[in-house]
Amino acid sequence: MVGVPLFTSKLDIIYGFAIFTLKKEFRTGKDVSDIMKEISIPLSIALERELMMKKVEQEGHKYYEQAIRDELTGLHTRLFMKDALGRILKMNDRKPNVAVSAIAFDLDHFKKINDKFGHYNGDIVLKAVAKIILNNIRGEDVDVRLGGEEFAVFVVDGDLNVAPIIAERIRISVQNHKFTGVLKDTAITISGGISYRREKETLEVFLHRADTALYKAKKSGRNKIIIESK
Ligand code: GH3
Ligand code: MG
Ligand code: MG
Repeated sequence: MVGVPLFTSKLDIIYGFAIFTLKKEFRTGKDVSDIMKEISIPLSIALERELMMKKVEQEGHKYYEQAIRDELTGLHTRLFMKDALGRILKMNDRKPNVAVSAIAFDLDHFKKINDKFGHYNGDIVLKAVAKIILNNIRGEDVDVRLGGEEFAVFVVDGDLNVAPIIAERIRISVQNHKFTGVLKDTAITISGGISYRREKETLEVFLHRADTALYKAKKSGRNKIIIESK
């Protein structure tokens, strides 16, 4: 059996040991130590590269995890939406009978909350709304904070009624939410718009149609959910 110490590329630290079992005995001497060196260096480099790749992979994973979750609300980011919806829409291309719906939400008169209670309390409202959204969707639905006080939920279900039911549940829960502290006695409402994905439609157009329905909800008095007109 032969042990070969593995050095870092600067040859100053031993960070591993390779063990070889030889089939035939051999005499030790200068020849052997030369062979050892020859084996050791490329092995060290290969192992070090392997460790580095592993580290890069782990770091990459960590950054991806950070990039797909919004820090304030814990909801998914647009980056995740693009990844997840890319897969969902491809599946929808193959199985168009399983509908994909988009619900776009926007808090009503949120600017007034910030103006009256400050940005810090505005953030408390955003966190509470995010929690309500998460409590009212299923594991397979995709939640997103699109930005500011705008959110989206994507629902995959053969039953076209599921998205309106989820949206309405969220709307009612937001309206009934009881805040504490300075926000006590403050009622928040949310408006929503729903679209159903059309054949081969891009995510942008699909979401834009939900946004158009949301705009109608705003125009017609807020605190309501509007389903796109066919
Ligand atoms: P509407 O009913 O028409 O939607 O009115 P609105 O006041 O909600 O709409 P507007 O888009 O004018 O206001 C959105 C506000 O959201 C403005 C911005 O200051 C605030 N906002 C955006 N991001 C954040 C955030 O991360 N934290 C807080 N506290 N406020 C935010
Ligand atoms: Mg807005
Ligand atoms: Mg708003």
